[in-house]
Amino acid sequence: MFLGHFALGVATKKVAPAMPIWILFLAPQFMDLLFLPLVAVGIEGFEQGAYGHDKLNILYSHSLVGAALIACVAYWIGNTYWRDSRGGIVLASLSFSHWIIDLLVHHQDMPILPGNLGGLPMLGFGLWNFEYGVFVTEVVMAIVAAVFYIQWARKENKGSRWFIGPALVVSFFVLLIVADIPRLPAL
Ligand SMILES: [Zn+2]
Repeated sequence: MFLGHFALGVATKKVAPAMPIWILFLAPQFMDLLFLPLVAVGIEGFEQGAYGHDKLNILYSHSLVGAALIACVAYWIGNTYWRDSRGGIVLASLSFSHWIIDLLVHHQDMPILPGNLGGLPMLGFGLWNFEYGVFVTEVVMAIVAAVFYIQWARKENKGSRWFIGPALVVSFFVLLIVADIPRLPAL
């Protein structure tokens, strides 16, 4: 589930129209945005596998406590820059939604405490074992999000270039979908 996080952010434009699309797009991925530098410095890591079967070391960025802290940072950003549009709660919710969605799809690789301190049980319901189920869900989420965003842009963005934002988002979604297809198991 990678595309789905972005889709949720884009779909939010319709309910939080005062928020810029780029921050709605990024907020559900704050956890993965932290994952990348942690991989670069060797604290976290991954080994690419088939769709839904990457081996992930996400002991900090995707711990429950880590996710809560990242949501607090998201709240602070939203409250600082978009207080009038309840940006704090919008960005914190989007940021924490990443953990909830990952909890459903991930294999048991999400700890409660950072670094899996105390060796508590690792979390993840493993829906990624149903590769096509998750893939189709992601694609449907992306389509719904794109439709919502296009509807909003056509109505509210008065300029003649209203389609540029939606075109960029749709192209990005298509790229992600096309990249995932060869990773799916043979039918
Ligand atoms: Zn993630």
